Amino acid sequence: MSLIAPRCDRCGSRTRHKEDDKPICQSCAEEMRLIIEASHEQRRQCPIDNAEMTKETAHMIVIDRCPTCSGVWLDGGELERMNGDIQEAAIMSMARGLTSPTF
Ligand SMILES: [Zn+2]
Ligand SMILES: [Zn+2]
Repeated sequence: MSLIAPRCDRCGSRTRHKEDDKPICQSCAEEMRLIIEASHEQRRQCPIDNAEMTKETAHMIVIDRCPTCSGVWLDGGELERMNGDIQEAAIMSMARGLTSPTF
């Protein structure tokens, strides 16, 4: 066994966590699960312009982003699941458009 932990396939941080025989850190593995779950959900329509929104993840929560007005929407439950810090970080990255598109 190597002394140096392999790098996570997704974010590049060192990890000994593995899934499907690929090195992936625990938080990325968790986020991947979220993305897979979200892909089974119905796409929602923007309440403002009725465009079909795309799903993205930001700090472990799934958000809907409207491609036309750039509006970001959350489920009530998704917001409740976040603690204050994560909520702030997620809102900041949404505002900067740093979330990762899932579709
Ligand atoms: Zn990672
Ligand atoms: Zn919109």
